[in-house]
Amino acid sequence: MVVYSHSRLQTFEQCPYKYKLKYIDKVPVEYRKTVEAFVGEIVHKVLEILFKRILETNQIIPKGELLKIYDMLWEEGWDSDILVNQPDKLPLYKFLGAKMISEYYNRNYPFNDLKTVAVETEEKIELIDGSKYHIKIDRLAKDKGNNFYVIDYKTNNRMKTHEEADKDRQLAMYSIWVLRNFPEANLIYLRWDMLKHNETVFSVRTKEQLKKLEKFVVSLIKDIESTTEFIPRPSYLCKWCVYKNICEYAKND
Ligand code: SF4
Repeated sequence: MVVYSHSRLQTFEQCPYKYKLKYIDKVPVEYRKTVEAFVGEIVHKVLEILFKRILETNQIIPKGELLKIYDMLWEEGWDSDILVNQPDKLPLYKFLGAKMISEYYNRNYPFNDLKTVAVETEEKIELIDGSKYHIKIDRLAKDKGNNFYVIDYKTNNRMKTHEEADKDRQLAMYSIWVLRNFPEANLIYLRWDMLKHNETVFSVRTKEQLKKLEKFVVSLIKDIESTTEFIPRPSYLCKWCVYKNICEYAKND
């Protein structure tokens, strides 16, 4: 059975033809990971290790040790096939990843404002129509007032605006899973930790808003499942589409 996800729905909304190439025809693509994506993966992994240790043993890994873990993961994971547009800047990328971890650590130490409940979840929920939806939360935490926090780490340059946060579907869908599994939750905050900026963006949804969102997602899934003609939707986004070299509809300007 298909398990829907934020990126699957987003792909369909962006371009139904791309959805077909990716999820139905499963057309293989030549893809080179970028150094930015590599840094993001390693930083996520380091924070996962940090909060998992706190969750399981209540111990805080000292910052120096954590940065050594970062170095080790970098060395283990680095592959010469990773795309670096300016190879002479590679040490800078490595430094920026370590800086994000270091500043995050300093800002949040001793990590006791919230209690971690789960890290890097790999869960599914069943929506009202029986469809399955993938839940992948970087870190789920709660405060003393039983308010829950669905936390997402972002390592990109662009700062998320409050307006974007209030419209975000990804974390809002995850909070439906939180609501079902932690009925004691009062408010569920959606929280983006913008690591490059060392800032946090919050949003919150009411139960009514979440019900409406679930209905919308279910209707979108119905649209996908009843679609027989996956019409291309060329846009400026073609520039980043992994199929642009094989797609006759790609917008190139
Ligand atoms: S290149 Fe553009 S039109 Fe073609 S599949 Fe990708 S997004 Fe769609």
